Amino acid sequence: MEKLIITVAPTGSIPKKENTPHVPILPDEIIKTGILCEKEGASIIHIHARNPDDETPSTDYGLFKEIVKGLKQETRLIIQISTGGRAGMGLEERRARLRLKPEMASLTTGSVNFPNSVYANSPELIRGLAQDMKQYGIKPEMEVFDVSMVNNALDLAKDALVDTPIHFNFVMGLKGAIPASVDHLVFLKNQIPSDATFCVSGIGAAQLPMCIHSIAMGGHARVGLEDCIYFRKGEKATNEQLVRRIANAARLMEREIATPDDARRILGLGN
Ligand code: ZN
Repeated sequence: MEKLIITVAPTGSIPKKENTPHVPILPDEIIKTGILCEKEGASIIHIHARNPDDETPSTDYGLFKEIVKGLKQETRLIIQISTGGRAGMGLEERRARLRLKPEMASLTTGSVNFPNSVYANSPELIRGLAQDMKQYGIKPEMEVFDVSMVNNALDLAKDALVDTPIHFNFVMGLKGAIPASVDHLVFLKNQIPSDATFCVSGIGAAQLPMCIHSIAMGGHARVGLEDCIYFRKGEKATNEQLVRRIANAARLMEREIATPDDARRILGLGN
């Protein structure tokens, strides 16, 4: 089996310091988290920026630039910029950060009802972001919240907006999207081309079991406070603890951990 790529998603859009003191908000906090998580076995870092004053999601180019610059200086991690956005954020606000030319960026290929909002991704927005990524040589990670989003991603490849092989991230267990179960994961995996790679993000308590299933199935794993702020019931986690636990689980399962350069080879980056 191929080595395991561990992605850390340390910040996301939701948890604030009042929810957990361990969530990195400021650029230097995110950079420090990246250094610690690389030591524990992460090879990709999925980043969001937050406004320093109120911790809300930010589209500020300068903040993304500071985070990317620091991570490049201090780590070998593959930087994956989130192109997600809150309701009301349009294409222009979500595409600006791609000018930083990270090696990867996330691309959600459909819309989904989050518990309290609509995560809207219109066909025009998806294609616009895909075009930018292609132009800048950025590999998209297809964020799949439901089965139809796999087909939408395959259509982008058919229209030559995305290069193959495609890399997917199955986000499972979010209320309003596909449930976190082995049946659903097997079904999703069976929908993707045989040369595609996939990662799994389980939301909340689903993080650990869904990552374990993915490891067993030859997939990759995403952990971090974006998806779950707890290590176990009632105990808040740090990002590096979550990376260490999944790396240890993989070793127990005789699955080797990919270094950032292994991950570049597996994902075909830098070609
Ligand atoms: Zn994200």
